[in-house]
Amino acid sequence: MKLGKAHINIKKGDITEERVDGIVNAANNTLLGGGGVDGAIHRKGGPSILEQCKKHSGCPTGEARITTAGNLPCKYVIHAVGPVYGRSDGMAEELLYNVYMNSMKLADEYGLNSLSFPSISTGAYGYPIQDAVNVVWRALEDFSRLDSTLKEINLVLFSEEDLKVYEDYFNQSIGEA
Ligand code: ADP
Repeated sequence: MKLGKAHINIKKGDITEERVDGIVNAANNTLLGGGGVDGAIHRKGGPSILEQCKKHSGCPTGEARITTAGNLPCKYVIHAVGPVYGRSDGMAEELLYNVYMNSMKLADEYGLNSLSFPSISTGAYGYPIQDAVNVVWRALEDFSRLDSTLKEINLVLFSEEDLKVYEDYFNQSIGEA
């Protein structure tokens, strides 16, 4: 679907297999690896990603840092730290919005044309996906009004249920936009 100047693709898949300029990692504050998406990226990408992550000395929630992608088929990994649901003093929504926005801005700074996101914070971090999808939509809609190198944004969901939540929400919102 087209949103502003960007093409948005919603699909089911494994983000480590995306052949795009950049993929986003659902990282934690240490940037030193973890489970879920983070574990899969470091496992398949190899040690050069962790070496670069160490140099960043961590990352605050809502922000993102970039590294190259080691053995992965993409060029860059944007390590983005989403909020832990229920542990951010009513700030979870704003922090989730910021993490998507800051990831896209960083991709633009590096001149990336295509970027793939996983569903940040809705796994181990417990953010309900039905609420998260509204925040993702708002961030993408706001970003799509800006001039950017980013022309293709993929939202990669890991399960059939998550895919349906995203498809339903985006199809309805596109209709109203
Ligand atoms: P967080 O800690 O930010 O919640 P997780 O990695 O635990 O991040 O989960 C975020 C989402 O990513 C979950 O929906 C999870 O099922 C999904 N996920 C896990 N592995 C992959 C993968 N290889 N590709 C795409 N999505 C994945």
